[in-house]
This record gives sequence, C-alpha cells and structure tokens, in this order.
Amino acid sequence: MNRRVAGRFLGIGVAALAGVAGSFTATLATTPWSLAAETGNTPSTAAAPAVSLPREVIKTAAQLRDTALASDEAYQLLESLTTEVGPRFAGTAGDLAGVNWSRETLQSLGFVNVRTPEVIVPRWIRGEASAQTVSPYPQQFVTLAIGGSIGTSDEGITAPVVIVKDIPELQSLPAGAVKGKLVFFNGRMERTRDGSGYGKAVRARTEGPSIAGALGAAGVVLRSVGTSKNRIAHSGTLSYNVSAPRIPAVAISNPDADNLERHFKLTAAGGKRAGEPVVMNVRVTSRDLPQTRSANVIAEIPGTDLADEVVLVGAHLDSWDPSVGAQDDGAGVAIAISAAKLAASMSPKPRRTIRVVLFANEEFGLSGANYYPADEGDESVAKHAFAMEADLGDGPVWKLSARVPPRYWSMVNEMHRLVKPLGVELGDNTAAGGADIGPLRRRGVPVLAPLLDATTYFDIHHTVNDTLDQVDPLHLKQSTAVFAVATYLAAMVDGPVERIAVDGGR
Ligand SMILES: [Zn+2]
Repeated sequence: MNRRVAGRFLGIGVAALAGVAGSFTATLATTPWSLAAETGNTPSTAAAPAVSLPREVIKTAAQLRDTALASDEAYQLLESLTTEVGPRFAGTAGDLAGVNWSRETLQSLGFVNVRTPEVIVPRWIRGEASAQTVSPYPQQFVTLAIGGSIGTSDEGITAPVVIVKDIPELQSLPAGAVKGKLVFFNGRMERTRDGSGYGKAVRARTEGPSIAGALGAAGVVLRSVGTSKNRIAHSGTLSYNVSAPRIPAVAISNPDADNLERHFKLTAAGGKRAGEPVVMNVRVTSRDLPQTRSANVIAEIPGTDLADEVVLVGAHLDSWDPSVGAQDDGAGVAIAISAAKLAASMSPKPRRTIRVVLFANEEFGLSGANYYPADEGDESVAKHAFAMEADLGDGPVWKLSARVPPRYWSMVNEMHRLVKPLGVELGDNTAAGGADIGPLRRRGVPVLAPLLDATTYFDIHHTVNDTLDQVDPLHLKQSTAVFAVATYLAAMVDGPVERIAVDGGR
C-alpha cells in the first residue's frame, strides 16, 4: 500500500485534528476560474451568488471527520463481506449472497426503505485457460481468460504469434499479417496515482479482441492490464463488437509477458533462432449461460426539510470471480455504507435524504448503473442533488474534485478545508465521478469526486490477490472520513441544486 501517503495524514493524528474546526474561517473562497466555461452552465446560473454553509454545520462536519477517523466500522463491514460472502461475480450464488448480505447489513445499521430492484445480468463461466509456447522454446504461462471470452476447442488454438504493442500498431500492419495467427498485445500499463495508466492500457483488452478478430486473427494473448510484478494474471472484461468475428482472448501475467517478449528477441533478426516463428497454444473453456437475475441494493436515511432530495453515495457490489474483491469494490461498499451512516448520525440531522446505492454488475457490463436511472425515472433523477461513488480501492483520498453548478464550488471548497489536514488536495470542477454514476452525470446530476489513491491498486486489481490483507485499515478510515464530510455537507447545503451541463463522456 502507499505508506508515504498514509504517513502524511496519520502523522497529524486524530487529536491534533480536533482543533481544525476552531481555526476554520467562514470566508467563502471564490471560484478560481470561469466555471461557466468549464461546465457550460448558462451565464445567469454562473452569476448566481456562491452558496454558504452555517458555521454550526461546518463545526459538525469537523466532528464527523474526527469520528470517522476513529471508527473501525468500514473495516469491519469489509471483513464481514469478504469472509461471509466472498467472490460476487454477476449472476452467481455469491452475487445473490452479496445482495442478501447488503440488505441485512443495511437494515441492521438503521437504514430504511431498503430495497433490491431486479437487474438482469449476463452470465459467463470463466472455466480454465492455458497458454504455452510450443516452439522454439516450450514454456507454460500463467493465464486467465479475459471476461466474456468465448472458449476454444478441446485442443485449443495452435498458431504463430504476432507481437504488437497496442491497437494502433496492430492496425498499421500489412493486410493479412495476423490472419489465422494469435495476436500478442504487449503494451505495459503505467503506474499512476490517478489510475489514468489503466484507462490508456485497457483498450487493448476491451476492444483488441474484436479488432484482431476483424483482421482475421485466431485469438488474442494480452499482457495483463495491471502493474503487478508477481506471477498473477489480471482479468477484466472485453467487449465484442457485433460486426467482428468473436475470437478467444486470454491475459498472461506481467513476468510471463516479459518472458514471451524475450522469445521474440531470440527469433528476430540477429537472434539465436532468427526467422523462426514463435508458436503458441491457447486453450480456454469459458462459455456463456443465459442471462440471469441480480439486483441493485438501495437504502436510505431520510432527511429533514429537504427529504425529497437525495445525496447518493455509491459503490458496486459485484466483484470478479477469482478473489473476494476486497479492494474492487468491497472497500467502496464499506466506505459508502459507513460514510452514509456516520453522516446521518450527526446533529443537526442531514436535510437531504442520504441514499446508499450498491450497484449490480459493474465489472461485466455496468448493468446496475444503467438500470438505476431508468428505474428511478426522470422526476426522481431530477431530485438527486449530488452523487458520489467509491470504486478505486481503499484510498486514501488524495484529491477532492467535483462537477457541480458554479455556485456550489464554494461548498467543495468548504469540504476541502475540512479534509485538507488528511492530505487531500483540491482538484477541479471537471470530474467524471466514476462509472456507476456516469449515467446520472450524463442526465445532469452534479457529482462529487473524492479521488482515491490508485498507486498500488492495479497491483491486485482483477487478480486472485484482491484479498482483505491488501486493505490498509488506516486508508479505509481516511477515505471514509472524506466521503462522510462530503456526504454531510452535500446534504446540508441550500438548494435547489441546478443540473450540470450534459456531456457525452464515460
Ligand atoms: Zn470496480
């Protein structure tokens, strides 16, 4: 985990933080740049005076932050989920056990209106996968099927391999270059704090198989989209294009991809086996089953004078199948539930209703995220004042960004002042806010985006190693504290909260 960042906020200590509220100045910061230009809001909206929050509310939010920092609840929830439920891949018995766990847990914590609207999800069986070179140097590689892959025949595919870095390189090859062959996508994922390295590398996994299939390739071998140097493969989903032939696709571990890369050095011009093809056998027993039932889990703590408006705190309940999904996204589930409960326990009580939404099947198609706004309907979505989501591991939160109407930037500033002692930077007003709340954002719902530190997240993401021991309880406390403060202030600020400009982003 990221000890450097953890040390920065933990060095301050909970006791020292208790004085932060006292030194707080009520002066509202003004917007540092033209938010009208950033968000596309109308000039009349942009000209509206910045919102302010009562001093009492700010003081309460500081107490909330300190209470959250001292609370073990998020970790206890995560321990319970990963131990009593385990893997929660869409449509499996574990997925349904996760829904039941969530319902019971939320009810026992005092949430009301707990409901589990049905979500239909695709059902895919991973089966087994193997990948090995057969010549010139026979070796076995550690591999996993990529989520959604079709299977091969019992004998698998044995074919020469063409190495490319990425999709543009594949597309630049001469016509027929990969026909009947296996394509090895060898691009490395860059380690970044904001997770942007994943976004750049993942296209080879999601779109690569169909692009290779359209060029006549027989299958895809992918360097894992992940940063682990251990001999574990990272899964994740692919997205077959309906107009391209479906071909099997597997991911091999990073050390195995390094090994395979060296096979190409030895068969290239000047190498010991120059001119010989690298031939591999890839075998996959994955298959599809008919789609089946899952559910979103929704639970609330009703507000007071603005109870018909909602502050949504979300995460996704499903995980990939090889592990218990402690970081992805058990940590987010624990942060969302714990932050909501802590925020709702404060006095003065939250004015808006705080709603926890645990989305179904994010990993294998964003099913729950797409059902949610349709289930709610336009009128309900219009009453969603703010939405936020935790889906990048245990944290800590290192930056607070948002995409809110310009006059609410002062509220984001207030949130930031409260969590700055926890090592949180102030971001900007162009945040996307996460995949599961994307459909809401694209309908104009303002988003708050406490950004979780992803530096080490992609070492275990979608692997067998996404286990509870990878979670740092101190990170979880800090993240819960930041989400709790954001939730509370979002529930307390005056409305009505205008919609943000609708964009086409993810
Ligand atoms: Zn996730």
